[in-house]
Amino acid sequence: MVGSIGLESTTILSVEWNTDMKEVGEELNPTSKKEIVKVNKNAHLRCLPITEPDVDDEITGEKDAYMTQVLAQYQKSLVQITSNQLGYPVNHEYDYGALGQFQHFSINNLGDPFMDSTYGVHSRQFEIGVLDWFARLWEIERDEYWGYVTNCGTEGNLHGILVGREVFPNGILYASEDSHYSVFRAARMYRMDCVKVRTLLTGQIDCADFKSQLLANQGRPAIVNVNIGTTVKGAVDDLDLVIQTLEECGLSDDKFYIHCDGALFGLMIPFVDSAPKVSFKKAIGSFSVSGHKFVGCPMPCGVQITRMKHIKALSSNVDYIATRDATIMGSRNGHSPIFLWYTLNKKGYKGFRNEVQRCLKNAHYLRDRLKEAGISAMLNELSSTVVFERPRDEDFVRQWNLVCLRNMSHIVVMPNVTVDKLNSFVKELTEKRSVWYQGQKVQPPCLAADIGKGNCECALCK
Ligand SMILES: *Cc1c(COP(=O)(O)O)cnc(C)c1O
Repeated sequence: MVGSIGLESTTILSVEWNTDMKEVGEELNPTSKKEIVKVNKNAHLRCLPITEPDVDDEITGEKDAYMTQVLAQYQKSLVQITSNQLGYPVNHEYDYGALGQFQHFSINNLGDPFMDSTYGVHSRQFEIGVLDWFARLWEIERDEYWGYVTNCGTEGNLHGILVGREVFPNGILYASEDSHYSVFRAARMYRMDCVKVRTLLTGQIDCADFKSQLLANQGRPAIVNVNIGTTVKGAVDDLDLVIQTLEECGLSDDKFYIHCDGALFGLMIPFVDSAPKVSFKKAIGSFSVSGHKFVGCPMPCGVQITRMKHIKALSSNVDYIATRDATIMGSRNGHSPIFLWYTLNKKGYKGFRNEVQRCLKNAHYLRDRLKEAGISAMLNELSSTVVFERPRDEDFVRQWNLVCLRNMSHIVVMPNVTVDKLNSFVKELTEKRSVWYQGQKVQPPCLAADIGKGNCECALCK
């Protein structure tokens, strides 16, 4: 089936927690429970207004005092929320004190990092250092790659898929149904034909379905989004099998373009010993990662790397030559490359390897504790994302800043998530569950459809 992807096919995680919210409801997956987008109708009531200064403000100091108090309160709430944040793949462990001096500068890397900028207040020297580091990690020679530090993983996807479309204007975008919504957003923005491919219970792309979809669309090139760690289940698509499937369907590597969405796991997978290689030595066209997820960075950012030959094709397009810029944005954050450069230098490959291994170990620990407590849970082999039974109580969900989808919730074990933290989480969840599921009235939900019967501990599956 080929068709333009409309809004109704977008995967939306329910990620807002206010109890007094209006449902703007939207069907997610016809076979699943309804997922809703929540709009906070009190957003305006709760906002921190911006008011005109009073004439005597400077004398009374009232406004300054008010603002200082607002900021102090906000700081306190951030400390609290950050310390219990388990559902989002964000590494909160870092110290960028040394970089405070740069907030006095309007650093902007506008345009292509490899072109000279007429705006002198830039950090291209840091940016290219960061890109070279990732190019080495993902195994592509300096003179064969092109890339830039993006504003986020989403921008990496938007860019990778755009390059794919420029290489194959007539191509069809294939993405598994567990792909991040930004992939389907790209299809809509670029008005591309897009095919959603089924997934296995692990969350990996189902290559049998992929094959039949490819065969149904013979004669057209394929642009494929391959997930290196899906958002919900942390599943790593089998890149080798994807390439093999393309070849079996008669698509040689000049007839397909693969973008690897490695928002979270793109930096982790090179350090997982048992993981298959995801690198430019294989037939991939681009690879992107978020900078604020595993690396840990106070502002959203990311890295996108593609092959120079593709960018040359893209830049020969008249529109691009006019601006001589193959990036998506105009102005670009010049601070984030310095933050990335700082951390990558401090940790090095060795530091990341240690952190990745610790996260995987702690994720196994969490999965085992949950199972012991009789709670449905799944952990993909190459992942630090533990999927488990959706907690019944929204307050609990909010308290731990969890993300829920259908009957699932998950914890992404990041470097800042300690065993102590996991212990207190499991302890509290176990205590709460014994209240929620007291007596026989309400039963824990069945997760067989989401994570398989073998991982489900509900009354029916056991
Ligand atoms: C988080 C995520 C993204 C989006 O990254 P942002 O940096 O939040 O824009 C894309 N793909 C996957 C698989 C993700 O987990």
